[in-house]
Amino acid sequence: AQTKPLAGKTAFVTGGAQGIGEAICRKLALLGAAVVVNDLRRTDAAEKLLDSLAASGVKAGMVCFDVSNEEAVEAGIAEAIKEYGPIDILVNNAGISLDSLLIRTKADDWHKTLNVNLTGSFYCARACAKSMIKARCGRIINISSVIGAMGNAGQVSYSASKAGLMGLTKTLARELGSRGITVNAVAPGFIKTQMTAALSGEHAEKLVEQIPLNCLGEAEDVAEAVAFLASPAARYITGQVLGVNGGMYM
Ligand code: NAP
Repeated sequence: AQTKPLAGKTAFVTGGAQGIGEAICRKLALLGAAVVVNDLRRTDAAEKLLDSLAASGVKAGMVCFDVSNEEAVEAGIAEAIKEYGPIDILVNNAGISLDSLLIRTKADDWHKTLNVNLTGSFYCARACAKSMIKARCGRIINISSVIGAMGNAGQVSYSASKAGLMGLTKTLARELGSRGITVNAVAPGFIKTQMTAALSGEHAEKLVEQIPLNCLGEAEDVAEAVAFLASPAARYITGQVLGVNGGMYM
């Protein structure tokens, strides 16, 4: 019989309607977790995802809000907890990149990126932590990026936001460890999604040359790492940044 290590758990995945977030939702559901998908909009793709999550035999639902809106996060997570029970696994995946070189970076774009990628993760973690502390268990997994560790010319606000997530991860791991909550980050390299679709042929080829495993990653590769960190097998792992980057950064 197939084992379902996350049966009885409820997962909340931000920005879960497409790309890496969608793959994470599918994988966690496959492992038996009830999944609450967050995203900005309930798109047709989101409806399809919800149908296929439900078809895999788990409870699935969606709560739409902008993670960078403090009040919306508080209300949205309270609604999710009311409807689906306390959240056991929070995956802070929602993210944007507004790329530019330093001298061309507009303050507005800087703030937008930091607000979604970093502040949004803080809001969601804070909103979920109360019930996790009460339950004396929980998993928080922040989707950072290889760019947060190594930097990248032209990704000023994005790299700062993703490096910030690594610091947030480590502090939350220290604060919440005694309450049975683990906090880790997954730092993907270049993964084939909408976010990287704009990479041109030549640019993509140059990128691949720098990756020891010689190819871009798939959203499922990131989902596997998240699923591991969410699983009972990872109970003694906290405060870590797990790279899923084909060896691009070591
Ligand atoms: P994606 O395809 O653009 O998906 C991101 C999702 O987040 C979208 O559904 C988007 O909704 C949603 N979102 C954006 N802003 C939001 C907000 N304020 N509140 C709630 N949801 C919001 O990106 P992805 O490639 O799957 O990336 C997922 C995460 O992995 C991001 O944090 C990204 O930085 C990180 N990452 C990606 C790569 C890569 O190579 N793809 C590499 C390293 C790290 P809309 O489409 O409606 O805007």
